[in-house]
Amino acid sequence: MSKVVKSDDEWRDELSAEEYAITREAATERAFTGKYWDTKTPGTYRCRCCGSELFDSQTKYDSGSGWPSFYQPVTANAVATQADNSMMMERTEVVCAECEAHLGHVFPDGPQPTGLRYCMNSASLDLEERSES
Ligand code: FE
Repeated sequence: MSKVVKSDDEWRDELSAEEYAITREAATERAFTGKYWDTKTPGTYRCRCCGSELFDSQTKYDSGSGWPSFYQPVTANAVATQADNSMMMERTEVVCAECEAHLGHVFPDGPQPTGLRYCMNSASLDLEERSES
C-alpha cells in the first residue's frame, strides 16, 4: 500500500491554517466548535488531507464530548494508532494510515460493539454525503 507523502510546504498550500495545525502538528480544535461534532448527515468521512475513507456515519454517535465520535473506523487498516504521552496524559493517538494526518485519539469508553470512542477533530475530516432512500 503506497503512502501519501508530501512536503511541509505542499500541506500548507492545501490546508487552512487550522487544518494544518491539527492534521500535521497534532493540535486539537476546541470542543463544540468543529463543523461535524453534531452532524447526523449520512455519508462517509474521508481524510481531509488525502481523501481516504476513515469513518462511516453509521458508526457515529453522540458522545457528549463536543467532537465527532465514532465507535469504529471503516476498516481496521484505515487508521493507525500510536502512544501519545504529551500533555501529561497517557493517550492513544489516531492517525490516517495513508498520510499520517493527526485525526484525534481513541479511548476505551465507547459504546458496543467495540467499546471504543474514536474522538476526532472535524478539521481532519471531510464528509462525503450520501442520499439514503
Ligand atoms: Fe490521510
